[in-house]
Amino acid sequence: GDGERVRVTVRLRPPTKAEQRDDEGPFIFLDTDRNTVVLRRTGSFEAFTEFQFDGVLPSGCQQVDVYNTAARPVVLDVLQGYNGTIMAYGQTGAGKTYTLSDKLACGGMSVEGIIPRSAAEIFARAEQDNDNEYHVSMSYIQIYMEQIQDLLRPESCNMQIREGETGVYVSGIQEVEVKSAEDVMKLLLLGDRNRAFSFTKLNAHSSRSHAIVILTVERKAKNFSEPASEASDRPHSGSSAGFLEGERVLVGKLFLVDLAGSERLKKSGSEGIRASEAMSVNLSLTCLGKCIGARADPNATHVPFRDSKLTRLLQESLGGNAKTSLIINIAPCNDYLRESLSSLSFGSRAMKVATRAIVNVEEEF
Ligand code: ADP
Repeated sequence: GDGERVRVTVRLRPPTKAEQRDDEGPFIFLDTDRNTVVLRRTGSFEAFTEFQFDGVLPSGCQQVDVYNTAARPVVLDVLQGYNGTIMAYGQTGAGKTYTLSDKLACGGMSVEGIIPRSAAEIFARAEQDNDNEYHVSMSYIQIYMEQIQDLLRPESCNMQIREGETGVYVSGIQEVEVKSAEDVMKLLLLGDRNRAFSFTKLNAHSSRSHAIVILTVERKAKNFSEPASEASDRPHSGSSAGFLEGERVLVGKLFLVDLAGSERLKKSGSEGIRASEAMSVNLSLTCLGKCIGARADPNATHVPFRDSKLTRLLQESLGGNAKTSLIINIAPCNDYLRESLSSLSFGSRAMKVATRAIVNVEEEF
């Protein structure tokens, strides 16, 4: 509906063994009733900063809580033909990848992250829906140094973003049909291997890139197969196993975004490729913040979506045709307090974004 904004959830990860020895006293306070986070900074003087969000998840929370709070509403919308974006923001080590991609059987208990859970929900609901049939495909890309690489087609590089009738898309992107959550996890694993390999070759680290899984869910009423007279060219009709042209198909795209680490690299000591990496990460995250800031400002006339590949690709989730959930991952460590403060400030700005979601209908009768 109108006037919807980005939903922001904060997740504090549990301390590591080393962090448990951090005995400087509590400095992050979560209030799950009021959805507030308070940071206490000490130094020459003591300062408290309070933030309020849509959801606040303490370190003891389970993966399923994160899914229910920050992902499920978006996934359900995607099944109805909306676009949706779930992104994890935070410094390296704060738990972004764990939150999104983790899949681990742990003493008979499953601690799956948002991607496997989203996929499982999509396929379970498709299975239960007697009135519609579904077609789901997956793409997996990364943005590194302002270049898009298809992680399912690792030889690809510097793929271009284009704009078609139904929105922004990556030209030539691989779209692989998926029939189960297992299929999704297999592709995720394959893409992650390609990602790790490309970074080993470059002697670089994947925390300097944004990883984006795109699940495209097409839904069509059963028993409607009358072919239309006009075929229109759909920008992402790369998947041959999709529905026939001319059928009325609802299309929802789910973007699952593991953002590059938000930490600022120390000015001294980073040079060459490290400095360029840091610059492009800063560029895209700053641009993300600016786009968010511009949306939050009713007087803003220009939103600089085109200033980075990330914002260009997410353009529709930052103010247009999509529902958006932002997860701010923070670490319970005094050394990271500045980074946590900056991540929470980012999330706080994002709360003010108003998005308007509309259902995508690809073809009319
Ligand atoms: P990021 O993707 O932000 O760099 P990771 O997801 O890789 O961070 O998390 C860093 C480490 O902390 C990993 O070893 C991960 O398994 C662990 N971790 C993160 N969040 C949690 C959590 N909620 N519970 C248990 N371990 C976690």
